[in-house]
Amino acid sequence: MLDVGLVTDPRLEEHDPGPHHVERPERLARIRGALDAAGLARRCRPVPLEAADEEALLRVHDRDHVRSVENACAAGAGALDADTGVCRASAEVARLAAGSAIALCREVARGRLRAGFAALRPPGHHAERGRAMGFCLFNNAAVAAAYLREAERVGRILIVDWDVHHGNGTQHAFEEDPSVFYFSVHQFPLYPGTGAAGERGRGAGLGATLNVPLRPGAGDPEFLAAIHDALVPAAEAFRPEFVIVSAGFDAHAADPLASLEVSTPAFAQATRIVREIAERHAGGRIVSLLEGGYHLEALAEATAAHVAALLGPEARS
Ligand SMILES: [Zn+2]
Repeated sequence: MLDVGLVTDPRLEEHDPGPHHVERPERLARIRGALDAAGLARRCRPVPLEAADEEALLRVHDRDHVRSVENACAAGAGALDADTGVCRASAEVARLAAGSAIALCREVARGRLRAGFAALRPPGHHAERGRAMGFCLFNNAAVAAAYLREAERVGRILIVDWDVHHGNGTQHAFEEDPSVFYFSVHQFPLYPGTGAAGERGRGAGLGATLNVPLRPGAGDPEFLAAIHDALVPAAEAFRPEFVIVSAGFDAHAADPLASLEVSTPAFAQATRIVREIAERHAGGRIVSLLEGGYHLEALAEATAAHVAALLGPEARS
């Protein structure tokens, strides 16, 4: 039975942030190649792209931001911040990325899939309510979590963000909301500068944000300790009904943008631990969304290891 959904659509390669940009379309082609070569794609059920509608985006973003992305793309090309370029297709591709995150979450929430992975671009976790940032146009994970909470009435959602950069946009979207727990392990200091250990949420959401900043040079022991020693007990207390992973692979030792030394097997181990959290508390419901990862070979290899761990051992037939 194919109970893990997979989004890997070449249309998401039509977003072009500009020449020589690290967030390049080839990232997805390499991931598709690795999932095919490892026999993982055939073990998943393909989930088609869906575009996020206005209502879905406005749960997280303000109308001016959505319009500014559309207007920049309609003009043909441009930059929404110093490192976030767009082409004519980018607004539509970004809607497809966010909408496909929603589609996977819907299928899992309604019991038609157990789990899912979406190889999305543009990534999402830096996108704020009112602005694009750090290669991100719309916040895929936040839009998906807001959909689960408001449309599927999921009571408690855990977002696990292991991209090497702190997910400022996701944290800010839910920092006053006790029903969405945001966990991030990331290099610190590093772009975007947020994610200090003292950031624990605000107001009613105080305690539902947990940041584990790691010093440059930290590797597998520190990365896995953050997951095992900080995330697992926090999840035990929070008891999530659904788990979303913001799966960036730029903490990999080979990645050119940061200085953590995480190995491919450690990403697989982190996946198993988070999957166990989902199984223990959330009926196994887990959806993973690609964020960063800029060394093509390491990205493809780590993503394949991640998807293999989401699938679990192949059943003998
Ligand atoms: Zn990143």
